[in-house]
Amino acid sequence: MKNSHAKHERSKRLLQGGSAALLTSAGLRPTRPRLALADWLFRKPNKHVTAEQAHAAMTKAGVSLSLATVYNTLNLLAGAGLLRQICVDGKQVLFDTNRDPHHYMYNEASGRLTDIPPLRLVAPPRPPRGMKITDVEIVIRVR
Ligand SMILES: [Zn+2]
Repeated sequence: MKNSHAKHERSKRLLQGGSAALLTSAGLRPTRPRLALADWLFRKPNKHVTAEQAHAAMTKAGVSLSLATVYNTLNLLAGAGLLRQICVDGKQVLFDTNRDPHHYMYNEASGRLTDIPPLRLVAPPRPPRGMKITDVEIVIRVR
């Protein structure tokens, strides 16, 4: 019983290509919504999307998921370290598939967010005692 289950899991992983392996490697069970979203998100590199955009893409692809499920799944993927989460204007959260350290150029007119390479800026302030800087994220706004 255990063997056939393992075999089933293995074949499912093969069928779904890299997404199931990716989810599993992040400690997430490859459920249908997670697989559908991961397949779409990681097909091309450097994607910045809102939950609404991801939901629209799922609907267009014939995958029926509620906006709440899409939003929760994106948050879960971000929490597992598979996506970066950026808040650009106080209300809009964008999810970024590029997890390498980088910064952003945000076009306030079009809402377009573009990656820029890590900048050589002044040294960041020293963190409080016993703490360490885990990430530095700079958004340069243009219009
Ligand atoms: Zn990015």
